[in-house]
Amino acid sequence: MSPTGDRREIVIVGGGIIGCCSAYYLTRHPSFDPARHKVTLIEASEIAGGASGKAGGMLAQWAYPSNIVALSYRLHAELAKEHDGINRWGYREVNCGQLVVRGRALTEKKAEDGSSESLQKRSTAALSKLKSAKIPQDLDWIEPELLRAYESMSGPGETAQVHPYQFTTSIAKLAEEKGATIVLGQVTDINRSKSSVESVTYTDKKSGETQTIAATDVLVAAGPWTNTILPEVPISAMRAHSVVIEPKKPVSAYCLFTNIEIPANFNPEKKSRPTVAAPEIYARPDRTVYACGEGDRIVPLPKLSSEVEVDQERCQEIIDQVGSISDNLRDGEVRARQACYLPNCDSGGGPLVGLTGVKGLYLAAGHTCWGIQNAPGTGKLMSEFVFDGQAKSAKIASLDPRDHF
Ligand SMILES: Cc1cc2nc3c(=O)[nH]c(=O)nc-3n(C[C@H](O)[C@H](O)[C@H](O)COP(=O)(O)OP(=O)(O)OC[C@H]3O[C@@H](n4cnc5c(N)ncnc54)[C@H](O)[C@@H]3O)c2cc1C
Repeated sequence: MSPTGDRREIVIVGGGIIGCCSAYYLTRHPSFDPARHKVTLIEASEIAGGASGKAGGMLAQWAYPSNIVALSYRLHAELAKEHDGINRWGYREVNCGQLVVRGRALTEKKAEDGSSESLQKRSTAALSKLKSAKIPQDLDWIEPELLRAYESMSGPGETAQVHPYQFTTSIAKLAEEKGATIVLGQVTDINRSKSSVESVTYTDKKSGETQTIAATDVLVAAGPWTNTILPEVPISAMRAHSVVIEPKKPVSAYCLFTNIEIPANFNPEKKSRPTVAAPEIYARPDRTVYACGEGDRIVPLPKLSSEVEVDQERCQEIIDQVGSISDNLRDGEVRARQACYLPNCDSGGGPLVGLTGVKGLYLAAGHTCWGIQNAPGTGKLMSEFVFDGQAKSAKIASLDPRDHF
């Protein structure tokens, strides 16, 4: 590791939430001096074009791994306070719960007793239905007659949320404001001498030309694409679909893990159907509702995030499932049907955060389903690895990449 008095050419590979938070904290590190230190982030497609722009955005004190969660949860709150995250990226605290509910067939009529309408108006009958089932009274956008059980998992203080696309793109801009450079191009090689990194070669997105830039430090944060650059790293990709719906009427702030019983006559046009569906449903402060379904490994990871294949049928399934338990969502406008790839750590646990066996080469990848929650903590720790030679803000020996490959 070169002493901090030396010139440093720091290159980050990947403009997802992990790469952008790393750029942000590198440019805020006490040792960072723009006159001597250059931070360049290279992104193949677009900032937040992958999972970091299409995730749910839930933050939880009970997420994992525990050695990074508390730090990252706190940093999310601090970032929101410092940069007006409430307005810039929809930061807010939320309730979170598990919901067991009966789904209705697609052809089944809406609640004929007008309960969904009256619920919005907080009618006595509707409220008492929720109360007797121990359902929070403001969770009034799920049809009460379909509810079987609700279990609170956490509330404000323990659970919060951000809009992942808005958060990641804002953090990228904040890093640029303090001196980071963002380049659009696909990294093809990290060039090393026997003992350390020397430069990075990439194909410029606009010109198509091959460019090589000098590097004293290279931080790989390429999410599910990590092993296309470093084949020895055990990270694989799993596709997941999601939708964004603008409901007919505003909904209360809940992140819901659902268990929806799917009736035999759910969709007469489809012979096979699951008996239970478990979409996660997140109300957002921008008046939309995000819902995602289960993952699949049917279509391999494409070269670029812009080439991800969206299976419209899978999106429709999620829309039908959430519409089957909520008239408000059924009557809403579908704003997005999308898919992205989750970075899974095949050796178990994860993420892999820290030094590698090569001098100047660092890894921050494999954040599974908690990359939004754990990104600020990861970024801060990466800035410490680069400038201090070790993690200082948390004890993360168990995430050491060198134990995994
Ligand atoms: C459906 C779904 C819901 C989720 N919900 C949540 C949630 O509620 N809370 C939570 O904490 N987490 C959630 N996650 C997980 C979270 O989205 C991921 O862990 C996180 O986005 C990973 O970030 P990343 O920066 O590592 O990867 P990515 O977002 O995939 O970014 C990697 C970037 O690297 C770029 N790249 C790849 N190869 C190259 C190359 N050769 N050269 C240059 N650039 C390259 C890509 O273009 C991409 O932009 C969810 C994930 C999914 C799929």
